[in-house]
Amino acid sequence: MSPVKQFTCIVCPRGCLLTVEITEPAADAVSGAPNYLDAVRVVGAACGRGVVYGRQEATAPLRSLTTTLRTSGADRPRLPVRSSADLPLERLLDACIALDTVVAQAPLRCGDVVMADLLGLGIDMLASDDLAVCPANGASHG
Ligand code: SF4
Repeated sequence: MSPVKQFTCIVCPRGCLLTVEITEPAADAVSGAPNYLDAVRVVGAACGRGVVYGRQEATAPLRSLTTTLRTSGADRPRLPVRSSADLPLERLLDACIALDTVVAQAPLRCGDVVMADLLGLGIDMLASDDLAVCPANGASHG
């Protein structure tokens, strides 16, 4: 029996219930290579965006990462940050472990790269807010 996964599409508020069936890929008629696109069938999506999301979520799920980092020389102890793109779900824990050692140095502006190329994935961690220098000039937290 083919693996079947069910989940709610989160691309828009309508929240369609998607059923994704994954079958053994058939060989392409021309090249003979496995045709993975036809091997993943999405049912229940009211639009094409849901089909794309369903295929991605069932085969290689992605998640955005938001967290906070310790700061140095700043007016507060933690800085909220977010990933510049979604990363593979199975790498989230590794990413959090890597970020635990990162210290955001003030000053920073919202959108600045705080850490480049997270885990070699080509994804940066960006400041989600401005980070001002501590009025006491250089006092650090954390
Ligand atoms: S399938 Fe389309 S309409 Fe349904 S929730 Fe996803 S994006 Fe919205």
